[in-house]
Amino acid sequence: QRKTASLSGAPRSTGGLKPELARFETLPAYQQMLAMQEMRNRLDIESPFFRVHDGQAGDTTVIEGRSYINFASYNYLGSSGAAEVNAAAKAAIDRYGTSASASRMVAGERPVQRELEQALASCYGVDDALALVSGHATNVTVIGYLFGPNDLIVHDALAHNSIVQGAQLSGAKRLSFPHNDWAALDELLSRVRGEYQRVLIAIEGLYSMDGDYPELERFIEIKRRHGAFLMVDEAHSLGVLGATGRGIAEHAGIDSREVDIWMGTMSKTLGGCGGYIAGSQPLIDLLRHFAPGFLYSVGLSPALAAASLASLQRMLAGPERVARLRERGRYFLKQAQAAGLDTGHSAGYAVIPVITGSSLKAAQWSNALFEAGINAQPIFYPAVEEKAARLRFFICSTHTVEQIDATIAVLARLNGRS
Ligand code: PMP
Repeated sequence: QRKTASLSGAPRSTGGLKPELARFETLPAYQQMLAMQEMRNRLDIESPFFRVHDGQAGDTTVIEGRSYINFASYNYLGSSGAAEVNAAAKAAIDRYGTSASASRMVAGERPVQRELEQALASCYGVDDALALVSGHATNVTVIGYLFGPNDLIVHDALAHNSIVQGAQLSGAKRLSFPHNDWAALDELLSRVRGEYQRVLIAIEGLYSMDGDYPELERFIEIKRRHGAFLMVDEAHSLGVLGATGRGIAEHAGIDSREVDIWMGTMSKTLGGCGGYIAGSQPLIDLLRHFAPGFLYSVGLSPALAAASLASLQRMLAGPERVARLRERGRYFLKQAQAAGLDTGHSAGYAVIPVITGSSLKAAQWSNALFEAGINAQPIFYPAVEEKAARLRFFICSTHTVEQIDATIAVLARLNGRS
């Protein structure tokens, strides 16, 4: 599971007043942050974080006046910035302003929020859907609300932080199984299923660090046999997998209703911001009336709902973009492998890691690429294990073969040198 530097772990007071414990500087995570900054300064490596973009981030981006080939943004189908998506958002702003200004239950709906939800439900072929203001918060509140102390949540070892946080909030027992290893999950459930009331299996449609995906039909068979719920997070698979971009169910040729909880985000293929859940009517009714992160949070801004609705319609009307994204992803993967780079288990769909084997090397390679006019994000420990530190390339349908060739050429040179 992905880790974040934690606030806990501060030295335990053994009694008496310790004023230093009431200062944020004494927290271990803060000290860790300073140590990393110092190491970067010593090695004269510029920080790759919080760079300021001036303009749209797609296959290219402008940072401090210089144009870069960009692999650090998951604007997979180029929806953010597309003319029809911008126009839909602008029209919604003119009509409704920039905020929904209160919770939907209390202060009422804007039609575009329901239109987006109905379009998502229809895209999946399920009863209904619900849109929330953040993808991360969607996992936290939905998992946190639906499950409790008598339940078990079992997730892929590489599940996103938001799934883990939701499981922790729920108070359920939380276990993980080795990445994509359905046989290990089956074995685990055979051992412990009897100890719990309800069980949730949480997996992702496409894993955002490795770019690989699960065998969905196996997980469906296992969840049925063990009487469990199955949740699939499609943050990175909507718009990426399946002939028309409908995600992993379309890719695997499976009826979407076989999965109990579909989750996704509006921040990638859907050119906006927010999260969604799609599924059966009882599930969506329950969440619409009770999920704290929906009920006690503002409604999705009409402009963002309109942008995501337009992006979804654009995706469904333009399968050629989905096909191009796939073709460019496969091309990147093939060329990277031919150059002797370690691309891990990537299946060549939109997310391609280049594993450097150490955080330091990931930082150095990212900097060298940046100097060559290429923006690619390094991933360090503790986001992944130290030996799995990497650069991560998000491919967009608009990336050209020339941009990919130029990038692989720099990577091949760096690889040859180390
Ligand atoms: N789930 C997964 C698998 C993710 O990768 C992310 C973030 N990229 C999220 C959920 C959270 O989504 P958001 O960034 O839209 O809040």
